[in-house]
Parts: sequence; structure tokens; C-alpha cells
Amino acid sequence: MKKTLMSGFVLILSLALLVFGALTALAFNSRLISDTKQELLSCAALTAKEFDPKLDADEQASAFSAAIGDIRITIVSSDGTVLGDSQADHRTMENHLDRSEIIQASASGQGTSVRNSETIGKKLVYSAVETPDGYFIRATKEVAGVFGHLISVVPAMVLSMLFSLLLAAYLINRFSVGFINPIIEMNDSLIGVKDGGKLLNPKDYRYGELEDMAVKINVISSHLSKYISNIQQEKEKLNYILDNVGEGFLLLDEKLNILLINNSACVYLNCRKSAVGEHILLAVRDFNFIQCAERAIKEKTRLLLDLELSGKIVESVFRYVEEESGFSASLIITMSDVTENRNSVKMRREFFSNASHELKTPITSIKGSAELLCSDLPISEKQRKELLTRIGVESERMNMLINDIIMISRMESGDLAGDIDNIDISEAINESLIEIAPMAEQDNLTVNVEIKPVFISANKKDIRELVSNLLVNAVKYNRQGGCVDISLKEQNGEAILKVRNDGEPIPLSQQRRVFERFYRVDSGRSKTIGGTGLGLSIVKHVVDSLNGAVSLESSIESGTAFTVRLPVSADN
Ligand code: ADP
Repeated sequence: MKKTLMSGFVLILSLALLVFGALTALAFNSRLISDTKQELLSCAALTAKEFDPKLDADEQASAFSAAIGDIRITIVSSDGTVLGDSQADHRTMENHLDRSEIIQASASGQGTSVRNSETIGKKLVYSAVETPDGYFIRATKEVAGVFGHLISVVPAMVLSMLFSLLLAAYLINRFSVGFINPIIEMNDSLIGVKDGGKLLNPKDYRYGELEDMAVKINVISSHLSKYISNIQQEKEKLNYILDNVGEGFLLLDEKLNILLINNSACVYLNCRKSAVGEHILLAVRDFNFIQCAERAIKEKTRLLLDLELSGKIVESVFRYVEEESGFSASLIITMSDVTENRNSVKMRREFFSNASHELKTPITSIKGSAELLCSDLPISEKQRKELLTRIGVESERMNMLINDIIMISRMESGDLAGDIDNIDISEAINESLIEIAPMAEQDNLTVNVEIKPVFISANKKDIRELVSNLLVNAVKYNRQGGCVDISLKEQNGEAILKVRNDGEPIPLSQQRRVFERFYRVDSGRSKTIGGTGLGLSIVKHVVDSLNGAVSLESSIESGTAFTVRLPVSADN
């Protein structure tokens, strides 16, 4: 700005100097000519007084000219004939009656004119007076004018112009600092508004107008920087929220350019956060996703799409939005991981299907036995007893199944048993030992028990269920004359319950599946043994609800062992 101002000033000054010089020269020139005219009139008048018509005119002209100096004298008769001339041969000169100065002199006694002489080809000033005898005395002088002298003064003029310009530049520089510096400071302050804005010192400014401006800029700057920082904070808050929600979020414009994308969407779609501004084709690899986005915009509608992304089911909702003033987004896409939801729906469906299937067997058996008993067919007492026993066994199996189903569905819905107490697991084991004693005796099993009281915070009924399922299984799946080893101890803040039994081991490939609902290792063999396939599933649920762990080891050599680890209660 300072440079522009300086060059502007210098240009204006140069032009002013030139115009001033030209006007002065013109005025000076006109003054010079007018003075020359007067001087020549005086000379002509003086000569007219001395002129004697009886003497030789040409000689007199030369004599007068010599006496006056460098002025040419011409003597013209009343009819315009040139009688004498101090510089030219008067006989060769044409009639002068038509000359402007002679015409004026014949009319008013004197006349002047300025023109280029045809005789000598220079600019000349002519002044003529009429003598009382009717002769015209004309004095002539060459005028170079101011412009004629100009060449000689050019160096001086250039020097003085340069000096004036330098002086002007220096003065302009000093003068401009007073208002250019404040303007530069104001500019810097406005540029820096977004970073808090540097406050100006209006008192330092030389001009009142600039001082006022600085005060106003300070007020505007502080308002603006507060406003900008608020907007930035809001933006950061929004980005923080968007980046930390589990859901993926994408904003696209009409041409499918990405306007906004959050972290979760980047993870789901395996794309960069810097994809903002790019076309979706460049950032996203999933063809179905892109196609759905295109369709939602084209049909201006809402679409749903399930994607399988790295083992997860991600539900994407494509919602078309009408363009609002100033906001060009056209498509809002939200993405959520619905794996758990979908799996639980699937599991529930399977659960009901399995439960009805499992209930069907005892009901069919009871129904068949009851129909036989009620029929008119002849039945022996032994057969009648067998049918009644089967009804009893199947009813018991149904009862067990229904109890287990109730228990497992209660646990799966998160509705765990109400009261949490500080309970001793060894007590639950002792109660279960009574329950299994008849079965163990029947199969001639040796039961080794090595337990110490260990307290945990849990629901008593849940723990009883857990222990009972493990102990009953250890007996049920044992061999005749086998062993059952039960141990309970506390170690590193954990209650460790281990139940081992002999008998056919669980194949390695099926060991993980035995905790699934209704899963039975060998359904043929298990059926003869009896069971619902829900026992270990209940054990797993109870353990998970108490933040514990259950593991299984099973082999021909060491038999089958279940180890349950549960955190001991804080009261211990
Ligand atoms: P079930 O009502 O059939 O006993 P569980 O869920 O308790 O159902 O057990 C699932 C399957 O795991 C059983 O069918 C059985 O084959 C196997 N199993 C469970 N416990 C043992 C064990 N202690 N020894 C050998 N196999 C076992």
C-alpha cells in the first residue's frame, strides 16, 4: 500500500510540475512577445521622429538600425512600396500594404503583429507607426520565445525536478506513516480475529478518524472472536459426539460427494476420514452400499440395507432429505451394528423351535400311554404298571424341561433371581451331594469330596442350580464303579470349583458346543440317560452373570472335568 501510495504521489507531483512548467512558460512567452512589441513600437516611433523623407530612405534605415542595435528597420511609403530596409535589398521586396501591422498603422497610427518571416524564415515581431507625412516606419525583431531558450535550461530543470521529487518522496513517506501504519495494524487485527484478534491502541493514532475506526474494530474483533470461538467449540463438540457414538454417520450431497463421515462409519466401510469432499466411489469399496445411496437419491426415498462387514451385521439406513436453504446435504446414512440383536432374534427362534421339539417327545409318550390305559384293550397288571411308570417318568422329564426352560429364559432376558446374598458354595455342594447319593450308590460310584467354605455374592438358587447341574452330570455320564471328584477352594480372590468324573469323554470337536442350549453330545446315548440339553447352558449363564469363567477338559485318560471360577465376595 505504501509503495502504491508513494508511486501515486510521485506521478501526481511529476504531472503537476510539468503542467505548472508548461503554463508558466506559456505565460512567460506571451509576456515576452508583448514586451517586444512595446519595445519595437517605441523604436519605430523614435525612428519616425528622426526620419527625413528628403534623404535616402534605405540609408536612413541602415543608420537607424545601427544606432538602435539588433533591430531591423523598414521604411514603407504610403502606397506600400518598400523604400528602405536595414537588412534586405528594398528593391527586391514586394509591396507591404497588405501586412497586418501596416494596415493597423494606417488605420490607427500604429500596429503590431507576430508571424514567421517569409524572407528569413524565423518567428518575428513587427511594430509599425505612421509618420505625419504618411510613411510607415516598421521595426522588426526576431523572438526565440521561452521555448527557444528551454534547451539551455533543461539540465537545471531536470535537477530541480529530481530534487523536488526526492523531497516530495521523503515528505510523503513521513506523512504516510501516520495513517498507513494504523491501517496495516487494523488489517492485521482483522486477519487475526479467528485466533483471538490483537487489540489496537487507538490512543497511539495521530488522526481522530483512525482512532474512532480502531475503537470500533476492537469492539467488532472481540465480538467476532467470541462468536468464532463459540462456533469452533460447538463444532468440536459435535465432532466429538459424532466420532464417539457407536453408530456410523455419513452425509452426502446430491452428487454423492461426502460432506461428513464419522469414525465409526470409517471403520465399518474401511475408508479414510480424509475422504470428506471426495466422491463416494473413490472412498467406499462396497458396491451394494454405493448402489443403495444412488437409489435413495434418485428415488428420493428411505432405504434399508444390511451389510456383512468383517463378521458383523451392519444395518444402514439411507434417508433422503430435501435440500434446505444454505444446506446442500441430500442423503443421511446411519449405520449400526445389529449383530447381537439379529443373533438374539435367531437364537430365540431356535430356542422356541427346540423347546417345542423337546416337549413333544414326553407329551407323545404320555398321550400314548394314557390312551392305551383308557382303551378297551385287555392290559395285564404288569403292563398297566409299566404304562403308569412311563407316564410318571415322562411327566418328570417334562417338569425338568419346563423348569430348565423357565430358568434359562429368565436368565437370557437378564432377569436374574432377586436376592443377592453372601453365600457359601460348599453348602450348595453338600445339598447336591444328598441329591446325587442314591444315583451314585446305584452305579456303585466313589465320590471324593475335598471342599472348604468359600463365600461369594450371588443368588442362592442360581448357585444351587449351577452346582446341581455339574454334580448330576458327573454321576449321569459316569461309568459303573467310576469316580466323582469334587473340590472347592479359594485362590487369588477366586472360588475354584472342580467337578471331575470318569466315563465316556466329550469329543474335542464338541467340547465348545456343550454349553449351547439343547446341545447333547450323543443324542442317542443321552436320551437313554435322560436330560434336557439345558444343564450346561444354565451353568454358563450363571457363571457369566457373576463375571466368572467355566472351562472343560475331557479325555479318555483323565475323564471329564469342569472348572468354575467365581470372584469371592468382598466381605471375605
Ligand atoms: P443334559 O441335560 O443332556 O445333561 P447338559 O447341557 O447338561 O444337558 O449337557 C450337554 C451334554 O454334554 C450332555 O448331553 C452330555 O453329552 C455332555 N456332558 C455334560 N456333562 C458331562 C460330563 N460330566 N461327562 C460327560 N459328558 C457330559
